[in-house]
Amino acid sequence: MEDCIFCKIITGEIPSTTVYEDEVVKAFLDITQVTPGHTLVIPKKHVPDLFAYDEELASQVFARIPKIARAIKAANPEVVGLNLVNNNGQAAYQSVFHSHFHLIPRFGAEDGFAMKFTDNSANYTPTDLALIAKSIETKVEK
Ligand code: AMP
Ligand code: ZN
Repeated sequence: MEDCIFCKIITGEIPSTTVYEDEVVKAFLDITQVTPGHTLVIPKKHVPDLFAYDEELASQVFARIPKIARAIKAANPEVVGLNLVNNNGQAAYQSVFHSHFHLIPRFGAEDGFAMKFTDNSANYTPTDLALIAKSIETKVEK
């Protein structure tokens, strides 16, 4: 894809700091280093976001994520956890439209990374939840 910075990272046109690479994925350090070791895993095939994966690409890419996560953990004894983050769409904070997975090693609650999960459970009855679940369930591709 012309004008895709991650495609240019794959070809080497834009430099990157490689952590792992094979025929399916490239993993490299995120330039912002939210926490030390913050890594991006990207498919070599250009797909804009999670919605564009077929089963084969998904299985190939996801199969590689745990071993990269384990390497990030093994590389630094101070790592106590890891967030796997995947933003899809501008509203979901995606800024580069070549799909990527952030592997963010965690060093404690005050390490610079935060996520907010609002608890709205009081606003939903079991019937509301069942209706939402059904609306999604009927859309799952067979
Ligand atoms: P997102 O906001 O989920 O789309 O994440 C895009 C990420 O790409 C951001 O965390 C950026 O810091 C990172 N990024 C953008 N350009 C580069 C680059 N040239 N090298 C490494 N990381 C980059
Ligand atoms: Zn691309």
